[in-house]
Amino acid sequence: MSKAFASQADLADKKITFQQLSPHCWAYTAEGDPNSGVIIGEKFIMVSDCTATPAMARDLIARIREVSDKPIKYVLLTHYHAVRVLGASAYFAEGASEIIASQGTYELIVERGKEDMQSEMERFPRLFRNAESVPGLTWPTLVIAGGDPMRGEAPGKLVVDLGGVKVQIWSPGPGHTRGDTIAWVEEEKVLFSGDLVEFEAGVYTGDAQLEEWPATLQALRALGAEAIVPGRGEAMRGAADVNRALDYTQLWVETLYRCGKEAAAANMDLKAAMAHTRKSMDPIFGQVFIYEHCLPFDVSRAFDEARGIKNPRIWTAERDQDMWTALQA
Ligand SMILES: [Zn+2]
Repeated sequence: MSKAFASQADLADKKITFQQLSPHCWAYTAEGDPNSGVIIGEKFIMVSDCTATPAMARDLIARIREVSDKPIKYVLLTHYHAVRVLGASAYFAEGASEIIASQGTYELIVERGKEDMQSEMERFPRLFRNAESVPGLTWPTLVIAGGDPMRGEAPGKLVVDLGGVKVQIWSPGPGHTRGDTIAWVEEEKVLFSGDLVEFEAGVYTGDAQLEEWPATLQALRALGAEAIVPGRGEAMRGAADVNRALDYTQLWVETLYRCGKEAAAANMDLKAAMAHTRKSMDPIFGQVFIYEHCLPFDVSRAFDEARGIKNPRIWTAERDQDMWTALQA
């Protein structure tokens, strides 16, 4: 790439926090890097999102082993993005036998998983520092049937009993991608949202369904969660702080998409759409983690969706470069 994306120069290690939120639920967070959730039952453990590489996953496994020796039987992929799924193979040595994803996520891996892996590896050299430990794409072994909301299908729901704690898994609606799932531990009111919710970090929307995302956030709000592990940013405890994270994400999505629609209505080009969007986004979000990284992809998608492109165009390493060139022109 002729000129670096913001994330390619972002090489400083993050401080990792592994904290208990409720009797069975834990958050593994890293200052704006992709988070994971851990649910520890009396028989089995589930990990929700499994880091970018097996080498990174081994750090998360080491934290888990400080508090439990149960098998990590289940790995949940909240969606298909490489930074969250390519660490999955590390869990096979820890007893993992089920990799869970929605039908929508499975279809996205088939359609664009390879391209996504390649472009994300180039975008995030820090997260893919040990890329040679990735054996290839991560394929789910347990696909939650049906439930592509873009086709008006009712969402399938999976309930996994880990022993003394049950995890509900389903797709609450389109948003960050068209296949996002959440994990919900109702008895403890803990929500593992994946990238549908972020807090004080960039909200990547390069593959998003921006029009529908606010309604999906409303569905999450209706759960009445008392703790949340967002996709990026610190874990939040207490209903008020959970709502702060939902509000933060909603404001990002709505502001971005409004700007995209204004840019499309005014027949701007991508570079002008970017400048127009910055006027609204920079003052509110300019200081958060990976803001500068997310913005070009976000503006591209908002501009596309506003111009009627319903299915997000596939990002490839070449398209990343083309976009960068268009913004520099
Ligand atoms: Zn994502």
